[in-house]
Amino acid sequence: MIASPGEAKFKYCPFLMTHDDKMKFCQATMCMMWRYASPGTEENRPGYCGLAGRPADEEQEKR
Ligand code: SF4
Repeated sequence: MIASPGEAKFKYCPFLMTHDDKMKFCQATMCMMWRYASPGTEENRPGYCGLAGRPADEEQEKR
C-alpha cells in the first residue's frame, strides 16, 4: 500500500507492539524500512513499508 508518511502513521505496523501486546502505528519516515515510492526531496512524498517488497499497485501504475 502506497501512502504519504502522514497517512502511514495511522496504519498499524505488524512488528511494533506495546508492552501489553497492542499494535502500534507505523513510524513511516522514522523507520529504516520505509521506502519512498519515487525519487525526490519532499519528505511527505508517498512511500510504503519495505518489509513486504514493492506494492503490486505501484508495479501496475508503471505499465
Ligand atoms: S515502515 Fe514498516 S516496519 Fe517500519 S514502522 Fe512502518 S510498518 Fe513498521
